[in-house]
Amino acid sequence: MATTQLATTNGNPVTLSDEMIDAFREQFRGEMLTPGDAGYDDSRRLWNGMHDRKPSLIARCTGTADVVAAVNLARENDLLLSVRGGGHNVAGFGAADDGLMIDLSPMRGVVVDPARKVVRAQGGCQWGDVDRETQLHAMVTPGGEISTTGIGGYTLSGGMGLLHRKWGLACDNLVSVEIVTASGDVLTASEAENPDLFWAVRGGGGNFGVVTTFEYRLHQFGPEAFAAAVIYLGDNAEKILNAWWEFARHEPDEVTGQIILWTVPDIPEIPAEHHGKPGIFVLGMYAGDPEEGKRVLQPLREIEEPLLDLSEAAPYVMHQSGFDEFFPEGSLYYWKSLTTDALSDEINQVILRQFAERPSMGTPIVIRHLGGAMGRVPEDATAYGNRSAEYNISIDGRWEDPAESERNIAWVRKAWDELNQLAGGGVYLNFAGFAEDANAVVRAGHQENYERLREVKRHYDPTNLFRMNANIRP
Ligand SMILES: Cc1cc2nc3c(=O)[nH]c(=O)nc-3n(C[C@H](O)[C@H](O)[C@H](O)COP(=O)(O)OP(=O)(O)OC[C@H]3O[C@@H](n4cnc5c(N)ncnc54)[C@H](O)[C@@H]3O)c2cc1C
Repeated sequence: MATTQLATTNGNPVTLSDEMIDAFREQFRGEMLTPGDAGYDDSRRLWNGMHDRKPSLIARCTGTADVVAAVNLARENDLLLSVRGGGHNVAGFGAADDGLMIDLSPMRGVVVDPARKVVRAQGGCQWGDVDRETQLHAMVTPGGEISTTGIGGYTLSGGMGLLHRKWGLACDNLVSVEIVTASGDVLTASEAENPDLFWAVRGGGGNFGVVTTFEYRLHQFGPEAFAAAVIYLGDNAEKILNAWWEFARHEPDEVTGQIILWTVPDIPEIPAEHHGKPGIFVLGMYAGDPEEGKRVLQPLREIEEPLLDLSEAAPYVMHQSGFDEFFPEGSLYYWKSLTTDALSDEINQVILRQFAERPSMGTPIVIRHLGGAMGRVPEDATAYGNRSAEYNISIDGRWEDPAESERNIAWVRKAWDELNQLAGGGVYLNFAGFAEDANAVVRAGHQENYERLREVKRHYDPTNLFRMNANIRP
């Protein structure tokens, strides 16, 4: 490898000599990639096509010792450091131009301990990796709705999916983490060990170190699960939204549901005349007996005559990957969300108007029902903020033509601003635009937990080595 120039945290370049690189190589077992190497472009690629970032050095870690070596190299040379888990972050935090990227994607091992009802998953896992192993034992830990989403970024900022009303957020199910902190120490954080750090990683994002192993609690569930998945034509969007809202207000914790105002997909099961028209997706997972789930979710399937009803009892892993194809890697995305304690006719009217005005038919507006188990965790028990919110409204801009980026981003911001004035001012940090105005966004994400998070950050990362995230300034 030639002498390598990298960016430092203050923007100035630094040159790592061949001797330094050789010394690093002695500590590091994984691949080290620089621009032009085979595999470099695959490793740096992020899921959101808006970001085309070129790190100067990619350290593809094979285990905790590799992570320690890479963190030490970054700290000792004040390098601009990014950590890539699944690479799904919409803001593109997984890569930084000219920086050092710690790529965790070779670390995807999963071990289930059915007797203790826990699963240990390495920091580069995707949800599909975890689900397929836990489901062998008919057990689950609540994860993301798209199987390729990284467990890392997802869990560290909360993690809501199709089971959070029954068993809480992904971060609520953490038993412990193994984490490499800025000093290069390998710590365990749990209720018993380093509890301040454990509190902070449950919602505080990647601010405190690189999590090399996540240990999650498991619940008996699956392999068969009943989920409602109904597509209605958007002509009666208001009626369908109101019917879903009425159902959501009374649903048991076993149901975690959402409504998506979107576009009728171009699939053979739906007559071609409807393709591309506004469509409403009503989704709900039942965390219990599939027969009971079918009965409980039935009202969601008969709001009116559906265009397509895909509701069924099927393997949980199938439900968890059923929407993968609708979120292709490389499309252009800009997502912003807000939380609200309640929906209202006024909020719903704004959602419906914004839905009608969206510049791209690829863009959904997603309303997720929160509450249940995730809402009963005390606000200060973990770093995750906005526990009391009953709904998350996410405006998920998606388009294909780079020339349309400005228009789409401007629309998402405008829709968000308008809704935010009616809602409670809370933000979910996994859907937070590009974290522009980072201070305000991060405060809105953590609310009253923010000051305590700063204290923990000052303790574990006083120089802000881990800054490519929803950043808490020490
Ligand atoms: C298609 C799609 C579907 C999604 N669905 C959901 C959903 O159902 N529910 C939901 O809540 N969110 C969802 N998200 C949002 C998702 O939770 C965030 O994008 C999250 O950041 C993804 O994590 P990642 O590891 O893939 O991301 P990355 O881009 O790899 O990382 C994101 C951030 O986390 C840090 N990080 C990642 N791994 C680690 C680690 N092991 N240790 C320390 N820091 C780490 C990174 O440094 C970075 O700051 C979805 C996103 C996409 C693109």
